Amino acid sequence: MRKNNIKYIYSFGGGIAEGNEKMKDLLGGKGANLAEMAGHPNLQLPVPPGFTISTEVCNFYYQNKKKYPKSLKKNVDVELLKVEKLVGRKFGDNKNPLLVSVRSGARRSMPGMMETILNVGLTTKTITGIIKQTGNERFVYDAYRRLIMMYSDVVMEKAAGIEPKGLGIRKELDLIIDEIKNKRKIIKDTDLNILDLKNICEIFKKKILEVFGKPFPDNHKEQLWGSIGAVFSSWNGKRAVSYRRIEGIPDDWGTAVTVQSMVFGNMGNDSATGVAFTRNPNNGENKFFGEYLINAQGEDVVAGIRTPLPINLYSNSSHKKLTHSLENEMPVLYKELYKIQNRLEKHYRDMQDIEFTIEDGKLYLLQCRIGKRNGIAAVRMAIEMYKEKLISKDEAIMRVTPAQLDELLHPRINPIMEKQIHPIAKGLPAGPGGAVGMIVFSADDAEKWASDGKKVILVREETSPEDVHGMHSAEAILTAKGGMTSHAALVARGWGKCCIVGCSKIHIDYKNKLFTTHSGKIFKEGDWLTLNGSKGNIYAGELPLIEPDLFRNKYFKEFMKICDDVRLLKIRTNADSPEDASIARKLGAEGIGLCRTEHMFFNPDRIKLMRKMIIADKYEDRVLALNELLPYQQSDFEGIFKVMNNLPVTIRLLDPPLNEFLPKEELKKIELAEELGIHISLLEKRIKQLSEANPMLGHRGCRLGITYPEITEMQSRAIFQAAVKIAKQEIKVFPEVMIPLVGDKNEVKHQFEIIERIAKEVIGKSKIKLKYLIGTMIELPRAVLVADKIAEWAQFFSYGTNDLTQMAYGFSRDDIGSFLPGYFEQKIFTQDPFHNLDQNGVGELVKIGIQKGRSVKPDLKIGICGEHGGDPSSIEFFHKVGMNYVSCSPFRVPIARLASAQAVIKSKN
Ligand code: PEP
Ligand code: MG
Repeated sequence: MRKNNIKYIYSFGGGIAEGNEKMKDLLGGKGANLAEMAGHPNLQLPVPPGFTISTEVCNFYYQNKKKYPKSLKKNVDVELLKVEKLVGRKFGDNKNPLLVSVRSGARRSMPGMMETILNVGLTTKTITGIIKQTGNERFVYDAYRRLIMMYSDVVMEKAAGIEPKGLGIRKELDLIIDEIKNKRKIIKDTDLNILDLKNICEIFKKKILEVFGKPFPDNHKEQLWGSIGAVFSSWNGKRAVSYRRIEGIPDDWGTAVTVQSMVFGNMGNDSATGVAFTRNPNNGENKFFGEYLINAQGEDVVAGIRTPLPINLYSNSSHKKLTHSLENEMPVLYKELYKIQNRLEKHYRDMQDIEFTIEDGKLYLLQCRIGKRNGIAAVRMAIEMYKEKLISKDEAIMRVTPAQLDELLHPRINPIMEKQIHPIAKGLPAGPGGAVGMIVFSADDAEKWASDGKKVILVREETSPEDVHGMHSAEAILTAKGGMTSHAALVARGWGKCCIVGCSKIHIDYKNKLFTTHSGKIFKEGDWLTLNGSKGNIYAGELPLIEPDLFRNKYFKEFMKICDDVRLLKIRTNADSPEDASIARKLGAEGIGLCRTEHMFFNPDRIKLMRKMIIADKYEDRVLALNELLPYQQSDFEGIFKVMNNLPVTIRLLDPPLNEFLPKEELKKIELAEELGIHISLLEKRIKQLSEANPMLGHRGCRLGITYPEITEMQSRAIFQAAVKIAKQEIKVFPEVMIPLVGDKNEVKHQFEIIERIAKEVIGKSKIKLKYLIGTMIELPRAVLVADKIAEWAQFFSYGTNDLTQMAYGFSRDDIGSFLPGYFEQKIFTQDPFHNLDQNGVGELVKIGIQKGRSVKPDLKIGICGEHGGDPSSIEFFHKVGMNYVSCSPFRVPIARLASAQAVIKSKN
């Protein structure tokens, strides 16, 4: 098997295997796990023998104009011989023929993206042998027609690169079956008799000859090599390529091809096939969970032609009384399977997803792999496996992805109900969680229907910036085109909205306001849909949603606790109200990293006073208005300090340009002029004075407090008066006053001196001790460059990465809805600048600022309060560059706790 020292094929079966679980790069996940199950001394499970052609052959194939290494044909023959010996059947034999499956498998699972061909080796010659072998003629012709359908579609059409004529061969053959069923007035495939199936096979072959100009191959070897080639070709099929782009899987990984002797779950009532999980993948409970079908092939379970039965009482989710289960129908085999699953989980130290087949009363394992699980299950499994000492604490923490934790924070479809119905179509999972709504086909309709109190799902070919209002009003977005960086995906992700994109299986007819699915079902405007944005599944009708219930989930609490044991970054929250602060605290926030004071002024009572202050052109008038605002502001701070007892609270002084507080519409302006008792022309003049060419720049941030020191004075007074008042109630208060948008040391000095003067005055009068800090935001590129100078005054830094990214790139987060998607499509940008600060230039700025700041004050406390504070990959970066804390919105707090623990573990390894 060696040629130039390269081994191309690895066999398994009969208690030995040449490969093992660690060889996923060469054998693909499937091949490696089959080898492990068959050959590892702890397992030695009943796996049908076979062999895996390595991924190196795939690469060779593509580098050599789709040719194989010279020795391969001979090697395959040798391996086939071994398999033949083990099973006692011969490939291509007319008396006792061997049939094989030909399966794909890359090193990382690419579900449904590549091809598999079953029943290879069925020819007019071998058919009689198989009929004798099985004594089941119907079964054999059914297998034959399945082979013809799969082979003609996958090998003769797709792999051969033939542009489908008309509907494509698969659909053509489906129609033939439909026609025969109609003629015979039967509905189910299982009602087709031997004659029907024979007849179907003959018509199929004629059709194939007509479509391709060549016959369906009647030679077992030709079928085998056609199938091997088709699996290799499917590595470069459209689906697989776009999946690789999304998942970042390199093209040169290649797929392996596993050729394995077939076992049949459809040989009669002593045969069955099923899928099981070593723990419940829906809720994580440590119970054996699965489904099976008697007298069926694997694809029957997957295709949903028949409803599978639970393997045991525990797996009975139908609420019906359990009459049949594997446990009571085939108790001996169930026990055997149960023991095997136990061994598999111990061996792999993770939940396994197992495919099994029972052929004539004998159990076979066809596949095992790490089982996919939802967020709730992932958390429970991680913590329970840690407590069972199956895995270490670090491993438990690494077992849950931030996205899975995020799932726990969104409503989701009731998993029991979801299991019971099949999606009408699938797309790419672009925004997590579940959503239910009525179909609308335009953004305007979405907005209108939503304003009438209806829940809608916006269905579009693709979206553009003109659709943003409708996207916002919709519960969820579904597009037929586009990938994970399409406009819809980007916008939805920014909002945390449920979204499915690239669902090419639906055909939209805007004119008639309907869409048609691949199977011909029609959905009209106003029909209900349910979307699972975490999986990309679309369902007809209204499925029940489950609201997130974190606070009562004990596994969540325990899991968060072990993350806290490990992480070094502190996690704070961005909150402007006692309500938000309280939620964040419950979710584990260890302080407030950003309290934006401007939000407090938008309340109707206060905006009036705010406007009065802004319009005033005399100092005295401004102070009068500010004094009226002070009690409001003070009481807000009191509320927040109370909730954050014992934890630091960073309060930022007024930041936005003042014109944001003034009305923009004519009518509102007239109203305001009347209210303030001034002439409209005066108001107009003031608005003009305050207008900003660019709202991100100009007269905002610390500059407001420099031109109007009385604003800083009032805010400082409100902060410290609130602090001393609450501190007197035995509550521990740690105010941190933050100066926004500085670019020069003198700006910091100017504001620092005002704040400190007021602090001393208020605290002095109160006669209590109160610790406080005065620091600044680093959010201008210039602030980074003079951070050493700024640190002479600032007692802490908090990075405002929103502004810093905006200023560095020259566009804002809002542009996510405008030109940015085009940038991604053209690959000008390959990563979202508002995610993953590492290596996008802005991260470099962050590093420079930290280094400069700490060159002056080695212990300078440094945090971040921009949106990146809740972004896992950025959090890893903040950990690496030695920040003290990250601050994020309340519902991102758990994600930040997990991501920062994972950052520690990753840097250890
Ligand atoms: C920032 O710029 O990152 C920040 C937190 O401030 P804001 O988003 O309020 O401008
Ligand atoms: Mg900012």
